[in-house]
Order: sequence, then structure tokens, then C-alpha cells
Amino acid sequence: MATTDPSGAGQSRRDYQSVLNWIEKKIQPELTKGRVATYIPALARVPKSKFAMAVYGIDGSVAAIGDADEPFSIQSISKVFTLMMALRQMGTHLWQRVGREPSGNRFNSLVQLEYEKGIPRNPFINAGAHVVTDCVLAHEPKGRQAILQEMRLLAKNRKIYFDREVARSERETGHWNAAIAHFLKAHGNLRGDVDKVLDAYFHQCSIAMSCHDLARAGLFLANGGRDVGTGDAVTTAQRAKRINALMMTCGLYDAVGNFAFHVGIPAKSGVGGGILGIIPGVLTVAVWSPGLDGSGNSLAGVKALELFTTRIGKSVF
Ligand code: GLN
Repeated sequence: MATTDPSGAGQSRRDYQSVLNWIEKKIQPELTKGRVATYIPALARVPKSKFAMAVYGIDGSVAAIGDADEPFSIQSISKVFTLMMALRQMGTHLWQRVGREPSGNRFNSLVQLEYEKGIPRNPFINAGAHVVTDCVLAHEPKGRQAILQEMRLLAKNRKIYFDREVARSERETGHWNAAIAHFLKAHGNLRGDVDKVLDAYFHQCSIAMSCHDLARAGLFLANGGRDVGTGDAVTTAQRAKRINALMMTCGLYDAVGNFAFHVGIPAKSGVGGGILGIIPGVLTVAVWSPGLDGSGNSLAGVKALELFTTRIGKSVF
């Protein structure tokens, strides 16, 4: 691979493309190893053979492989964007209602929430995301639609949509999330109507986006909070730094330590098999492979990101 700049920041589109082409071959044996999420039919029927990656550099470079234009269920990756919205609305007041420590538990743990008296460990476990969504709804007259609009704006794609089937089955099977939300309400940490918060949460999880969309939508996090095209502030540089820090420490649930060890970048995963990774000051990388590991993270996705950061010689460490 031709490297134009040892820091990696100056790597050209062609360099990233050749790295992705190499990963596409290398990753094939991994695609069969994971288990597709089965808690709702719409996720259970996604073929395990699907694989895609897209890389967007803050210098305008773009590279992609596989089904990178095909929308998939972003699920918990949406939590990054609702967090950004809640911080915009409430600033540091948000931190009175949600913590900033890794959970070391599964993403939907109830036990931990009981020990910690209704203050979720961080905004990326389900309990924390419910509080964040409650905050967003309190400030947004358009309700859940505001979340979709934000995603369309950031990804520069007006076709991004709520997958109604996914949202409906999330609600039908969402007893665990409902338990978390009611528990938060009992502790006074959910201000709005529980059903409205759950409805918005299930819809944000159901948003369908492609790897191209996700990598574009996250680009402000690699660019000090600013839109790469216009230079306008999406969020402040400090908040971008903090969101990246939370992705680094909490973005892959109880597998976050291993991910930092092997991949070494801030990232957020979802049970749809997507992962969005950020290399601050350089690029975003989105990967999609529906087969999950035991922690609910894309098995081949994690491996592909490890190959990527290793091959380009760039991480936050
Ligand atoms: N909809 C899923 C849930 O709430 C999202 C979880 C995830 O992507 N980790 O359980």
C-alpha cells in the first residue's frame, strides 16, 4: 500500500480503497461465525453473508466495499446522535441524569440500574439511551420525527427512513426495554410519558441507513464537531471530544476493553450488525455484517475494523 503521509492523515482515497479491497477478501471466513439477532423477525431474516464498509476522510476522500449503499437497521448506533442532540439542548445538565462510566454489563442490564438507583451508567446502554431520548423529546415539539430529521441532515440523505416493521416488532417484543423505562420512571429519571419515550426509542433503533450514510453522518465527530462540507458547527469541539470519549469507553458495552485493545478507536455498535468508528482528525469508518458475537457486536465488523486500523497504522493510541 502506498502511504502518502506516515501519520495516516494524508492517505488518499486510493490507499483506503486498496485496504478495503484487501479486507473484503480476508474477512470472508469470519462472516459465517456470528449469529444474527433473532429477537425480531425483520433482523432474523437478514442474510449473514451481507458485508459492507465505507470510509470518509475529513479531506473529502471516500472509499467503500460490498453492500455499502444498502440500508440496514442502525439500532444502538442511533444513541450517538440522540446524545449529541440532548447535549445541544441541555448542555452539562444532562450529566445529572446519566453517568459516564463503562458498564461492564450487558447493554440491557436491569440489575445494575437497581443498584445505581435509576441513574444509568452511561448514555449508550439502553437505560441511558431512554433517559437521553426522554430529554430530546422534552425539547423537541416534533418528537421522534426530530431524530429522523437530524439523521437525514447529517447523512445528507433525505431518503433515510424509520423501518416501520422493525419499530413495530421492537414494541411488540420490547418488554425488557419497557421494564427499564418503567424502572427509570419509578426513580423519577424519566420525565415524559413512558410509552412515548419507548415509542421514540424503538423508532430511533429502527432507522435504516447504509454504511455510506453512517460514515457521512458521523463525520463531524472526526472533524472537531464541524460539518466537513460547510464548516458549520454541528456541535462544539468539546462535545465532539466528549462523545468520542464515551464511544471509546462505552460504545461496545461489555466488550469495549477488547475492542480498544484490538481496534483502538471510538466506536458505536448496534445489534443490526453495524459499527461506526471515528478516527478523530482523520476519518470515519462504518462497517456492516449482521452476524453478532456474544456481546451483541458484529463479529466480522469488529475483525474488519481491527484489520483496517492495523493496516493503515492509525488509531487513537
Ligand atoms: N433495539 C435494541 C434494544 O433496545 C437495540 C440494542 C442494540 O443495538 N444494542 O434492545
